[in-house]
Amino acid sequence: MFQRDRLPDPLTYYQSQGLHLQGRGRWRTAGCPFHGSSDSLRVNVETGAFVCMAACGARGGDVIAFEMAMQGCSFVAAAKALGCWVDHPSDAAGKERRRPLPFPPREALEVLAEDAMLITLCGLHAHHGDELTDDDRAAWLEAHGRVQFIISEVLK
Ligand SMILES: [Zn+2]
Repeated sequence: MFQRDRLPDPLTYYQSQGLHLQGRGRWRTAGCPFHGSSDSLRVNVETGAFVCMAACGARGGDVIAFEMAMQGCSFVAAAKALGCWVDHPSDAAGKERRRPLPFPPREALEVLAEDAMLITLCGLHAHHGDELTDDDRAAWLEAHGRVQFIISEVLK
C-alpha cells in the first residue's frame, strides 16, 4: 500500500533528478526536463508540486506525479521507485487512493503571485526612468505570457 509519509523530501528528490533549483523560498526555478527549457519549471520544495510555465503543460501536485511523468510509469511503479510502497495483504482490494495529487489551484495562485512580482519589478524599473533593456523587455513579456498561460490552462 502507498504510504504518503514515506515520500522523499521534495528538495532532495528534485536535486537527485538532476534539477538545478534556483532561487529561495518555497518556489524554486529550474529547467523543464519535459520540454528542455532552461528556466520555465517552478517547483514547490515543501509540497513537491511542479508546473512548467511554458506551453508544455507539465504539472502535478507531488513528487509522485513528477516521477510518473518523467518515467512514464504507473502510480504503483513510481511509489515503489520512491520507496513509499509497502506490500500489504489488502492491496488486492485496491481500496487505497492510487493517484498522484493534481496540481492545486492554490499553488497556481502562489506561482502567479511570484511571476506578478517579477512583472511589477520590471515596471518599477521602467518607472524610475531607466530605459528597459531588450533583455528586461523580453523577461517582462515572457513573465506576462506565463501569467496568461496559468490563468488559461491551470485555473480553468
Ligand atoms: Zn515544460
